[in-house]
Amino acid sequence: MNISKMLKASLCACALLLAGCGSEASSAAQSLEKQSLSLFAMDTYMTLSAYGDNAGAALEAASGEITRLEAQISVTAPGSEIYSLNAAGSAELSEDTEELLRFALEMNQRTAGALDVTLYPVTSSWGFTKEEHHVPTEEELSSLLALTGPDKLELNGTAASLSEGSQIDLGAVGKGYAGDLAAEALKENGVTSALLDLGGNIQTVGTKPDGSLWKIGIRDPFSDGVFGTLTIGEAAVVTSGAYERFFVEDGVTYWHIIDPTTGKPASSGVASATIVGSEGRLCDALSTSAFVMGKDRTCELWRQNDDFDYIIVTDERQVYISEGLSESFALSDSCSDWELIVDKK
Ligand code: AMP
Ligand code: MG
Repeated sequence: MNISKMLKASLCACALLLAGCGSEASSAAQSLEKQSLSLFAMDTYMTLSAYGDNAGAALEAASGEITRLEAQISVTAPGSEIYSLNAAGSAELSEDTEELLRFALEMNQRTAGALDVTLYPVTSSWGFTKEEHHVPTEEELSSLLALTGPDKLELNGTAASLSEGSQIDLGAVGKGYAGDLAAEALKENGVTSALLDLGGNIQTVGTKPDGSLWKIGIRDPFSDGVFGTLTIGEAAVVTSGAYERFFVEDGVTYWHIIDPTTGKPASSGVASATIVGSEGRLCDALSTSAFVMGKDRTCELWRQNDDFDYIIVTDERQVYISEGLSESFALSDSCSDWELIVDKK
């Protein structure tokens, strides 16, 4: 973390302390009182909000789960399990890391290779992780792509090993899994109403304390606002878009989601992909994959499965949504001229 990020993170920590102080409300009011905790983790700002008498302690437990997972799976922190695996070619993993790697391999199959956590030699060559940007040559890309693919990772129980030169990055699924662990920790601590914002990945627990649904704004991929709103109960809502991390060189924009078949930024005509479901890690894996696969392949996957819904914005400002969301999604007034198309099974 650089100095300015550290400063902002400590300011967030201060906000948490202030939010936790001086509540002398009656116990009935306290159960509806919102408590919030902000932290900087997984290279992003997160705000966790929960309601109820035990919300403060529950939020501490949830944030503990996120920082514990980060310490295990960070690709840049020396000492993390993934860092050790990448550096030494083999490592003994904790159960969470092993489970997430197995899940990522399963998702590689389910997405016909669009999600590939062995892409790290390629993504690190583009320099997105360390913000040292570089456009690799075709020769570089073909030799780096030879190091990627699910067959390069072997898992034997909790013992992981990689082929020579291969490397793993769980950046496409880590925040989603962190949301699952945080939501679980909140529930274990008695929370029945919470909204977790993990740097744009949203995960909710229950409904609002008064029983009404949450309103979740979905980021406009072409500007800073939101293009639409989802009104939902307990769910994970995860969006991937080129706007999240990119650089411009010689007038060309390069972004951080890479097509494993070319080693280059995925250009499938998708400006952003939002996946809604009950499991954060699944939504995270699929939002990255949908950005790579494009609208038609994502729709096809949705037709064959019933564990997620999607909202895809194309480069032409068309919004495709799967029918499960048709009642809960509404375009913002400022985007009411965008074409909205409901996909049906
Ligand atoms: P997300 O923000 O969840 O869409 O994940 C994007 C991050 O996942 C990138 O910053 C890379 O670290 C990594 N990544 C990029 N392309 C892929 C891919 N095709 N499969 C798996 N991970 C990827
Ligand atoms: Mg993702």
